[in-house]
Amino acid sequence: MSKDIVLVSNNKGKIVEVKSVLEPLGFNVLCLNDLNIDIDIEENGTTYEENALIKARFIKNKYSRIIADDSGIEIFSLDNKPGVFSARFLGETTPYIEKNKIVIDMLKDKEDKGAKFVSVIAYIHNGKENIFRGEVEGTITSEIRGSDGFGYDPIFLPNGIKNTFGEMADNQKNNISHRAIALNKLKEWLKDEKI
Ligand code: IMP
Repeated sequence: MSKDIVLVSNNKGKIVEVKSVLEPLGFNVLCLNDLNIDIDIEENGTTYEENALIKARFIKNKYSRIIADDSGIEIFSLDNKPGVFSARFLGETTPYIEKNKIVIDMLKDKEDKGAKFVSVIAYIHNGKENIFRGEVEGTITSEIRGSDGFGYDPIFLPNGIKNTFGEMADNQKNNISHRAIALNKLKEWLKDEKI
């Protein structure tokens, strides 16, 4: 039986993280580019769960195993913004180097620099839907640190760790990230699925 899983994304950072967890289990992870699927899905849900399901359901009739991640960063002193709007926050096409500088500036006078990353993974297998959530807490740094990873990685310092996500090699981030936590829950579930 084919062990292809379609990841509804072309985000390189997400693809690397998903492959690192699922390929050792024997799954072949394909992204939308691999399948020549060119779609622009309107993520109009109000929660990560809704958006992850919107993405996964989009191709539900075409493939037997589909996963989609919806994720974001919640900054406590900004009323947990940008959350589900993380990709669109400060302009969808604004380079992250600019966005990250603006976020640092927004927090300059705030005592609470706490934040958390959230990832929700929707997995659909033969039409059956499942949801897995991962969260990691940390603080926003007062300068850009590192150039690895993507998005807000260079300003996110996970609690108890000296390096920001942007200063970590892929395999280090992929051990502790919000997405890794959600993916590991999926991985345990897949083991029990006996496929
Ligand atoms: P999505 O692709 O609609 O789920 O958007 C997620 C957005 O949240 C990304 O574009 C980033 O801005 C942010 N984000 C989510 N996960 C991460 C991460 O692991 N590192 C850095 N930024 C992230």
